[in-house]
Amino acid sequence: MSADKSIQLYKRAAAKIPGGVNSPVRAWKAVGGFPKFIARGKSAYIIDAGGKKYLDFVGSWGPLILGHAHPKIVAAIKKAASAGTTFGAPTEREVELAELVARLIPSIQELRLVSSGTEAAMSAIRVARAFTQKTKIIKFEGCYHGHSDGLLAKAGSGVATLGLPDSAGVPSGFAQETIVLPYNDLEAVSEAFDQHGGEIAAIIVEPVCGNMGVIPPVSGFLTGLREITTAHEALLIFDEVITGFRVAPGGAQGLYKIKPDLTCLGKILGGGLPLAAFGGKREIMNLLAPIGPVYQAGTLSGNPLAVNAGLATVNLLRRDGVYAKLEDLGKTLASGLRNILERRGISAVINRVGSMWTLFFGIQAVSNAAQAQACDREQFARYFHGMLRRGIYLPPSPFEAAFVSLAHTQRDLNKTLDAFDDWTREESK
Ligand code: PMP
Repeated sequence: MSADKSIQLYKRAAAKIPGGVNSPVRAWKAVGGFPKFIARGKSAYIIDAGGKKYLDFVGSWGPLILGHAHPKIVAAIKKAASAGTTFGAPTEREVELAELVARLIPSIQELRLVSSGTEAAMSAIRVARAFTQKTKIIKFEGCYHGHSDGLLAKAGSGVATLGLPDSAGVPSGFAQETIVLPYNDLEAVSEAFDQHGGEIAAIIVEPVCGNMGVIPPVSGFLTGLREITTAHEALLIFDEVITGFRVAPGGAQGLYKIKPDLTCLGKILGGGLPLAAFGGKREIMNLLAPIGPVYQAGTLSGNPLAVNAGLATVNLLRRDGVYAKLEDLGKTLASGLRNILERRGISAVINRVGSMWTLFFGIQAVSNAAQAQACDREQFARYFHGMLRRGIYLPPSPFEAAFVSLAHTQRDLNKTLDAFDDWTREESK
């Protein structure tokens, strides 16, 4: 490997930033090698510090459904910036965004804006505990809901990538309030309620999991969660930080027609700036300070730049045909990849919902974390680097979702399939 600019930057970074990165999965530990430092992005492409261009299927891990540096988003951010970047006081556009979200996702009667998905999930749990006056939470193995203490038990994403069962620094008492069950296993949920029914405040779930690679809910799973939580007076929290505005205008809850009590949003909601939200039934949300006893706050919550970028993004997604196009792009790509895998006799499965997808090698079906963990990680690493050499930038871990954006074109997909065909030829030798 040549000492390219990214390697030089990585070495400098590693002296001052732990592991050289500000979020662990960026370090490429799962695939080896040095992470590319990115200098610029435009539409579906990114350019690294050494000037090499890649077709990007990471999209900043989900927010960039319109691609990089979309002119309307850049304009919205510039306009907001020139009117003042933050006030720590309410602004009209926050109200507009709240109204827009509530219109698109009807289970959300009221919402609060925060700055990260971690805060959204953490705060949703707090208000759920206050509302139900119970303490335990059910989460599913491989689902990631940010890095707050109680939610780091068997989380996916970077935690799965690094093979950490839990995080050091989390008191065991915190994690003990979290019951971790296999995804897509209603029977396990039912047993947990038999055992702890009176103590369970909420189930939190990614309605389509993106953090152990893409895993769709099996038929009846989400309906079952809705029924069992209702029966036990526990809340159902959908963490739609990835799926919100990604799989349908109304998120996964719109797609599968399930109404959770609370929803977490992030990523696309901020159009590439730090913005997230949690919201739901009015009677629950009204427990929040200043009108209720549940404290939650943020200096930069509802930041004008982020709100303006979010409004512009969500409004652009309301145009006709947007989700049909995303489905079409996702389908074309996945079926093209499947054909090549079949032709070459490579054992793998592609899970996909709309524009989010993951290729798992060496396994025929993946519907929970144990199956995801059984995939061939070494082959994934070869695939990652093989595609990178051919100018295609994929998530640097087998346990992450790849994303197609509205900036991807049919030509981009053809290019990706050609690269994949070429890599599989090399792989089959
Ligand atoms: N929930 C889900 C489903 C996520 O995918 C993520 C981040 N990937 C989070 C919560 C945490 O969001 P953030 O990184 O903005 O804190």
